[in-house]
Amino acid sequence: KARRDNKNLTVRFQSEMDTALQRRRKLETELFKAIVRDELRLDYQPLVNLRDNSVFGVEALLRWDSREFGAVSPMEFIPIAEENGYIQEIGSWVLNRAMKEALTWDASLRLSVNVSPAQFFRGNLVQTVSEALDRASFPAERLDLEVTESLFIDESTDLKFRMEELRELGCKFSMDDFGTGYSSLGYITKYPFSKIKLDKSFVRDTLDREEDMAVIEAVLLLAEGYGMSVIVEGIETFEQSQRLQSLGCKYGQGYYFSRPTSTSGIAALLAKAA
Ligand code: C2E
Ligand code: MG
Ligand code: MG
Ligand code: MG
Repeated sequence: KARRDNKNLTVRFQSEMDTALQRRRKLETELFKAIVRDELRLDYQPLVNLRDNSVFGVEALLRWDSREFGAVSPMEFIPIAEENGYIQEIGSWVLNRAMKEALTWDASLRLSVNVSPAQFFRGNLVQTVSEALDRASFPAERLDLEVTESLFIDESTDLKFRMEELRELGCKFSMDDFGTGYSSLGYITKYPFSKIKLDKSFVRDTLDREEDMAVIEAVLLLAEGYGMSVIVEGIETFEQSQRLQSLGCKYGQGYYFSRPTSTSGIAALLAKAA
C-alpha cells in the first residue's frame, strides 16, 4: 500500500511539474509577443509624505494582460524575462513608457522605475536610461531607479562604476525590498543610494513586535546618518501609518493611500489632491 501511495505521489508530482513547465514555456512564447501585441502597460502607485498624505512621487509597476493567460503577475513573468533576456527589451519599454506618461503630470513629482540586475549585468543600462531620458526629454533629476539587494550578491566594483555613471546622468537609486533576504547595511553604505525602501513583509512582521521596532529605528538612524531617506512599503492601514510616523518614518507607500492604478487613474488622483 505504501509503495502504491508513493507511486501515486510520484505520478502526481511529475504531472504537476509538467504542468508548471508547460505553463512556463507557453508564458515565454506569449511574453515574446507581448510588446508588439501591446499587452504590456504600467500602473502607478503614489509615494506619499506620511505627515499629510501628500504625493511626492509614483512608482511604475509593470502589468501584462495576456491574450492567452489574462493578467499575469510581474512576480511570475519578470523572472522568466530575466532568465531568457527579454528583460532588456521589456525594461527599455518600461523606462520609455514611464517617462512619457510621467511628463503629463506635475513637474515636481518623482518617478520610480524598477530595474533588474540583468539590465545592469547583461545589458547596457546606462545607455538604455540615457536614451530614454533623451527621447522623452525627461529630467534625469526626477528619476529614481529601484534595485533589489539581489543585485549585490556578486559584489563588484564594476557595478559601483555603472551606478556612478547613472548618477552622473542625474538619476538616483533606491534600494528596494530592504529587510528581506540578504539585506546588508554594508551595501547601503558602499553604493550610491539615496533612498531605502523597507519591504512590506518586514513592516507587517515587525509592526506589532516591540523588540523589532528597534530595527526600524536603527535603519532610520543609519539612513539619516548617510543622508538617505526611508520609504516604507506595504502600508495598508491608518494604524500602521500612525505607528510608523511615531517611530520617525516620513515616507510611505501602500494600499492605505492608493492601490497601483492606471495612468488616467493616477492623473485623476493627482488632480484631486492639487
Ligand atoms: P516592488 O518593486 O517591491 O513593488 C511593490 C509591490 O508591492 C507591488 O507589487 C505593489 O502592487 C505591491 N504593494 C503596494 N502596496 C501594497 C500594500 O499595501 N500591500 C501589499 N500586500 N502589497 C502592496 P507588484 O505590482 O505585483 O510587483 C511585484 C514586483 O515585481 C515588484 O516589487 C518588482 O520587484 C517587480 N516589478 C514590477 N514592475 C517591474 C518592472 O517594470 N521592472 C522590473 N524589473 N520589475 C518589476
Ligand atoms: Mg519597487
Ligand atoms: Mg519593493
Ligand atoms: Mg518587491
